[in-house]
Amino acid sequence: MTATHVNGISVLEDQPARSGISRTGVTVFYEQIRELLLEDGQVVYGCVHCDYTNPNQHSIRPHLKVHKPKATTVTAEALPSKADPATPRPIPAKPATLPATDPLPSASTPEGAGSLADLNLGQLVERARQSDQMRSERDAARREAADWKQRAAEERLRRDGWKQRALKAETGTDWKERAVRAERKLSAVRELLQS
Ligand SMILES: [Zn+2]
Repeated sequence: MTATHVNGISVLEDQPARSGISRTGVTVFYEQIRELLLEDGQVVYGCVHCDYTNPNQHSIRPHLKVHKPKATTVTAEALPSKADPATPRPIPAKPATLPATDPLPSASTPEGAGSLADLNLGQLVERARQSDQMRSERDAARREAADWKQRAAEERLRRDGWKQRALKAETGTDWKERAVRAERKLSAVRELLQS
């Protein structure tokens, strides 16, 4: 504010200072320089912005520099900080990965001692796979055994066939039949001779 007192003397009037460039008929007033009429009749010039006064009008103009708005130097720091796309954003730390499977039972654990509830999924799958493998192996062995049994039975039948044929030959069935046939022929011949 423009001074209301100068060295303890009250300002009676406060009006715009007239500039020296006033032409005839036209009065040009300063906008920032006031002409102050003091109580004791002095006339001083004052700043419109503050209480600075000076008897010399030309001393006010240099003072006005202090009220010039500072050149706002726009710097990179003054700018509102935007996220720099080149700067990698902080990535939250990954949680520690849990082990995929529980540790295998210790070697001292006797095989099959633990109940199924003690086994994890991987171990159950492995055990099922092993049992499947054992079952298929067992089935293959059974099929093979059945094949051998079948072949043995066929062999026995073949042997029995030979045995039966051999037995027939031994008993002389063919001879008997031949004898019967011969007997009949002989009988027929006798009948012819007798008639
Ligand atoms: Zn001032």
